[in-house]
Amino acid sequence: MASKIMSINAGSSSLKFQLFEMPEEVLLVKGLFERIGLEDEMIFSYSIKDAKVKTSVKGKSHEEAINFLLHFLLERKVLTSLDELSGVGHRVAHGGEDFKTSSLVDSCALQKIKDLGKLAPLHNPVNVVGIEALQKDLPDCPQVAVFDTSFHQTMEAKNYVYPLPYRFYEEDSVRRYGFHGTSHQFVAAEAANYLEKPIESMKIISCHLGNGASICGIKDGKSVITSMGFTPLAGLMMGTRCGDIDPSIIPFLQNEKNLSASDMDKLMNAESGFKGVTDFSSDTRDIISEAEKGNERAKLALDMFAGRVKQTIGAYAAELDGVDVLIFTAGIGENSAVIREMICQDLTFFGIAIDQDQNQKNSRRISSAASSVEVLVVETNEELMIVRDTFHLI
Ligand code: AMP
Repeated sequence: MASKIMSINAGSSSLKFQLFEMPEEVLLVKGLFERIGLEDEMIFSYSIKDAKVKTSVKGKSHEEAINFLLHFLLERKVLTSLDELSGVGHRVAHGGEDFKTSSLVDSCALQKIKDLGKLAPLHNPVNVVGIEALQKDLPDCPQVAVFDTSFHQTMEAKNYVYPLPYRFYEEDSVRRYGFHGTSHQFVAAEAANYLEKPIESMKIISCHLGNGASICGIKDGKSVITSMGFTPLAGLMMGTRCGDIDPSIIPFLQNEKNLSASDMDKLMNAESGFKGVTDFSSDTRDIISEAEKGNERAKLALDMFAGRVKQTIGAYAAELDGVDVLIFTAGIGENSAVIREMICQDLTFFGIAIDQDQNQKNSRRISSAASSVEVLVVETNEELMIVRDTFHLI
C-alpha cells in the first residue's frame, strides 16, 4: 500500500522538508523555511510539480513553521487529511554509540537524543525541537530519527579511539564518530546499483565534497574509516572549517592572540578553510573563477584542498587494501570538473584515470577505459535515504 512519508531536517534557523510517496519514491513536494526566529516572518520556499515559489510567512519558531507546513499540505491537497501521513523521518546529527542504526522515536530514544546534545550542542537540541513540534501536532504519527553518525558505527576501535589517555573515551565519550553517514551510505548503494554488483563485493571510497566535506572508506557495504572525527571539524579542509591541523597550534594561538577556547572554536569552524586561506570566499565557484584570473591565493587554496583529498584517497586505499570504486558527491563533487580533475591527476599508481569529456559533462561514470577503478559522480539524496529508513522502520 502506498504511504506518504516526510523527511524533516531542522537547523538552527531553518527547516527543510520533503514529502515522498513510498515505496515508489515519488517526490510530491519539497521546501525550506529560512530565517526562523530572526524576525517576525520567515522565508518559505517550496517546489511542487514544476512550480517554484518563494514567499514570506508569519511566525518565528520551528513550531510555527511546522504548523504552517501541515496546513499548507492540506490546503495544496498534497494530503487530504493529516492521517494520510504514515511517518516522519528526522535528520539527527549525533547518535553517539547509542544509535547504530536509525530508530523509532519513543520517549526513551528522545531522552537519549537530548542527552547526546552534550556532543553536538549546535545540532541535536534543534533536531529535538523539530521532533517535539511534530509530536505536538501529530501525536499518533510514527517518527524516526536517522543519524549522521550511525553508518560509521561499524568502524573498529583502532580507527575510532584517539591516542589520548583512554579514560577520556571511557568517561567523556571522546572518540571518532564521523558524520555525513546518510550520504556516504546512500551514494555507495547507488553506485552498487548502477554497476549492478553486490555492495558486499566492493571496496569503495566515497568523497562527499560540499561546504562540509568528508571521505569514507567502505568495505562489504560497511564504513571502515572516515575523515570527520569527534566533531565535523576534523579531516579535510572545508568551506570555512580548517580540518586537521597540528593540535599544538590551538594553545599557541590562544596564548599569542589572547583568544578564549570559544574564540578559537569559532575561528576554526567559521573563519578557516577556503574562506581563511583566500580571505574572500568559502565558495569554490568564486575561488575557481579568481584562480583562472591568476589569483595566487585562490590557486593555493584549491591545490591544498585537492591535495588533502588525494592524500586521504591514498590512505584509505591502503586501509581497504585496494579500491574498486571512487565516488564524488555533494556540491563540489557533483559539479566541479576542475576539482575532480585536480584530485584524480597522478593517481595512475592506484589505477585511477578519468575521461576528460565525461568529466566535463558531469557524467555518471567519469573513469577512462584505462582506469581499473570505476570513478563515479553520484548525486547524494540524504532526504530520500531518511524517508527509505522511515518507511522500513514503520
Ligand atoms: P553542498 O554543501 O553540498 O550544498 O555544496 C555547496 C558547495 O558546492 C558550494 O559552497 C560551492 O563551493 C560548491 N559548488 C557548487 N557548484 C559548484 C560548481 N559548479 N563548481 C564548483 N563548486 C561548486
